[in-house]
Amino acid sequence: MPDLRRMKQLGQSFLVNRDIAIAEAEHAHGKVVLEIGPGRGILTEELVKNAEKVIAVEKDYLLFKSLASTMPEKNLKLIHGDFFEVAPEDLELERVEILIANIPYYISSRVIAWAWEHRMQAVLCLQKEFVKHMLAKEGTRGYSRLSVMCSLMLSITEIMPVDRGNFRPIPMVDSEVIYIKPREARISERESELINLLMQHKKKRVRNAILDSHRQLGVEKKRLLEISEEIGKKEERIFKLGPQTILGLARELDAMLSGR
Ligand code: SAH
Repeated sequence: MPDLRRMKQLGQSFLVNRDIAIAEAEHAHGKVVLEIGPGRGILTEELVKNAEKVIAVEKDYLLFKSLASTMPEKNLKLIHGDFFEVAPEDLELERVEILIANIPYYISSRVIAWAWEHRMQAVLCLQKEFVKHMLAKEGTRGYSRLSVMCSLMLSITEIMPVDRGNFRPIPMVDSEVIYIKPREARISERESELINLLMQHKKKRVRNAILDSHRQLGVEKKRLLEISEEIGKKEERIFKLGPQTILGLARELDAMLSGR
């Protein structure tokens, strides 16, 4: 009997259409590939055919054991554990060239942030709605912190839609495979924090968004009042501003707050 609670907790929904795995594995040719959550191994099987080496991390011990006993391929290294807790040496990050994975949706944001940080290109199957948010443009409903950060830090190519019927158990939502590549852009922790803050108030005008952030910024209202009068685009609504403009505002704000 499958353990339903565990399946839910770990976001387990297994791909059953091999053609999709074959298409994803096209990006593995001759490369050292990292896979998160191999599950029952449908993608792993296709990856090992094309890749120089596959390093796959599975958190569920039973799935890990079962894969280890059914996949003797010499170019496969299976690791049992939570992907985010595995040591970089064990992941062989020095050698890994691409991440290819159908990941559980609950870790989508974390995996994307990880890919940025590690300058790692990736082919990922994600929730279609999530991809929409990643690609949303200014002025539209889905435009959010995620859209701004993705636009600034990644180049994103849509590869193919994947209907929910291709997974078992059938999830509530459709998916999409995308290819992401980190851009050279460097954004500091502070800038990212300020972008976050601005986007939390995305419906407001810039000056009000800044004024209403006095608690989070830990700056007294009087000083913020001055800043909000001096800052560019103060009358514009944040969600109408493009990612580069938002980044510009975050930098301006950072400079003003730190008295530069
Ligand atoms: N890639 C497989 C399975 C997808 S289901 C397929 O396409 O069929 C997601 C898989 O990720 C499950 O096997 C689940 O146990 C595993 N998983 C969930 N969280 C994980 C984590 N933090 N680290 C590694 N594996 C994880």
